[in-house]
Parts: sequence; structure tokens; C-alpha cells
Amino acid sequence: MAPQREWFEKDYYAVLGLQKGATEKEITRAYRKLAKQHHPDANAGNKDAEEKFKEVSAAYDVLGDAAKRKEYDEVRVMAASGANPFAGAGGFGGAGGAGGGFGGDGIHFETGDIGGLGDLLGNLFGGGRRRSQAGRQPGAGPRRGGDLEAEVHLAFDDAVRGATIAVQLTGAAPCHTCGGTGAAPGTVPQTCPQCNGAGTLAVDQGPFSFSQICPRCGGSGRVVEKPCPTCGGGGAETRTREVKVRIPVGVADGQRVRVKGKGTPGSNGGPPGDLYVTVHVAPHPLFGRKGDDLSLRVPVTFSEAALGAEVKVPTLDGSVTVRIPPGTASGKTLRVRGRGMPKAAAGAGDLLVTVDVVVPQSLSDEQRQAVEALAATEPGNPRAHLGV
Ligand SMILES: [Zn+2]
Ligand SMILES: [Zn+2]
Repeated sequence: MAPQREWFEKDYYAVLGLQKGATEKEITRAYRKLAKQHHPDANAGNKDAEEKFKEVSAAYDVLGDAAKRKEYDEVRVMAASGANPFAGAGGFGGAGGAGGGFGGDGIHFETGDIGGLGDLLGNLFGGGRRRSQAGRQPGAGPRRGGDLEAEVHLAFDDAVRGATIAVQLTGAAPCHTCGGTGAAPGTVPQTCPQCNGAGTLAVDQGPFSFSQICPRCGGSGRVVEKPCPTCGGGGAETRTREVKVRIPVGVADGQRVRVKGKGTPGSNGGPPGDLYVTVHVAPHPLFGRKGDDLSLRVPVTFSEAALGAEVKVPTLDGSVTVRIPPGTASGKTLRVRGRGMPKAAAGAGDLLVTVDVVVPQSLSDEQRQAVEALAATEPGNPRAHLGV
């Protein structure tokens, strides 16, 4: 990942409302919050939100990646010292301070020979621009597209069986007219005549000779003679597209499903980002859920609890008979193995049956006599240990 011109100019921490020393967690949290707030799906037609969304995505693209963030932090230190190789039209307008130690006639300012700044410039002017798309990102190498977020709502049954859900996404996509090349139909981008496709030019400035980004092609090495009428040569357009998302069996409420390569398209030949789909699962009318286990409260009568019984209980797939042992207390939970939520890998969680002993609201004469007969046989005070 080569540093970008924007890195010198944009404070990505400020974009996410953070300080420079923010933790990875803080960065991710801030990004999710802002991406959600400014997401095009929630702000149809709102240009400001779209811009903000792009900014936030660009900031997270860098700060959310430890390696890129390190490079970015280094660039910011350089930027603070005034070393911006992009400043000014003629090349290294801002690099005077860093380059001050080099004198003499005819020195070629070889990038890569001057320590930290050299590494930086080496990256800036390194290879990888040949595959770029018609100069969309001046001076940038291949750039991975941003990640996108989406949400889907599922019925409980869909979570049990798994499902394929079509998600509508609005955002940057390769232009449908030119396929992303930026060239008008029937034409293709040409090798830049000024730099012969290199993307950089050697420029003599007094005793120095600099490598400078080719002004004609913006560093891409290619030029579009006739821009595509749909995208104006940029190669991208805002479009609503449909992505089929495979929701795994047993998906949990709040789970995020990653769809690789379905995020924002990359630029300059970079790979696309990923799509993250947050899944909301509607509750089941009977079963509670904890992880892969399902829970169910089952009413039993006093006599069933006292004498033991076999009771039929529902499961996701037909019914099952549960043996209530004699002397089961109200609130006791019995585990039925393998009758819970199906798991994505294989098998299933358990069904946890909690026994609810039902006390009759009213008794018939016959029942009252029976209960009184029972009471007459009951030993002492069961609350004696409470000391009252
Ligand atoms: Zn060029
Ligand atoms: Zn186009």
C-alpha cells in the first residue's frame, strides 16, 4: 500500500473524531457508528452524507489496518515537518527541509537513498501504477476498495435452515458502460504518450533531478482519449446493486456475515473491499435461545412432578418425549441433547426444558379432599431451618 496524496492532507483521526493514540477498538467503534450514520442506504440522495461516508470509509481503510496505519502515522510526521512531495505544481515544493542536506552539482535525487524520507518516496513512486484505471487516483498505487455494512432481518425459521438473502447496496460500482476503464464504448485507454506508461517523469530542477508524477496521466501511465459518457472517465458510478448473501444455518441474532469482495470496488487495479452483513433474527414464539441451545418452559401438574411422568414437548423438528423424574422441583431444567439450534458446522445445540409446576387456581370437592389427605401425611414444618 503506497501512501497517498491525501495522507499528507487529511487527518483521518479527526475524521473519525479520535485522537492519534486511539486504540484499534476505538477506531472500529467510531467507524461503525459513523458509517452507519452516513450510509447511503439511510441517506438516499444526500450528497453531504455520501461524501462523509466516503471520508469515513477512507479513514477506516487506513486506520483500521495496522500496517497502513503505521505508514500513515509516519507520513503525518513528515507532513508536519513540511515534507509534502505533492505540494506545489513543480514537484517537491515542500521537501526543502528534508532535502536540505544534499548539495553538489548534478545529484540525482534517487528515491530510496535517503533513509526514512527515501523509503516514503520509494513507496510513493514505486511500481504498481500500470494497471490503474485511467488516472482516477493521481499518483496512487492499487488501492483496495472500502468495506461496506448492511443489515438483514430474518424470520426464526430462516436462521434455523439458513437462507440466501438479496441485499440492495447503493454506492460506487464499476461503470456499467465502460466496465470501469473510463474509456468511451469502442475505445480503450491508451498508454500515456508523455511518460510512455511509466507514470513518472524525470524533471531537472537546478542541480537536482526529480522523479515527478506525470501530469498528463496523473501517475496511472494511461490516458483516456474519449471519456466514457456515463462516468466522465472516472470508471465508477453510483449504482444500486444486488448482492446475494448466504446466511449460514444456525445464525445468531446480531451475528456479522462477511461477504468477501462485495464491498466498494478497488481503484487502480486494487481488490474490492468486503461486505459485512449484520443479521437480525426475529424471536421464536415458543423457544428462547442462548448460543446454540434453545430453552422452553414446560408446565407440569403437581402429581406429574411428584410421581414422575413422560411429557411430550415440541422441538424445531417434531416433538420429543421428556422423562420427568419423580420428585422434580419446579424450576428444574432438563437437557435434551441435540434438539437445539442447528450448528453451521454440523450437529445441533441442546433443548433446555425448564419444569413449571402448575398450582391449580381452584379445586373440586374431590380434589380438595385428596389434597387435605395428602397434607395430613406431610411431615412437620418445611421452613424450620429459616428459624421463624
Ligand atoms: Zn503519463
Ligand atoms: Zn464509464
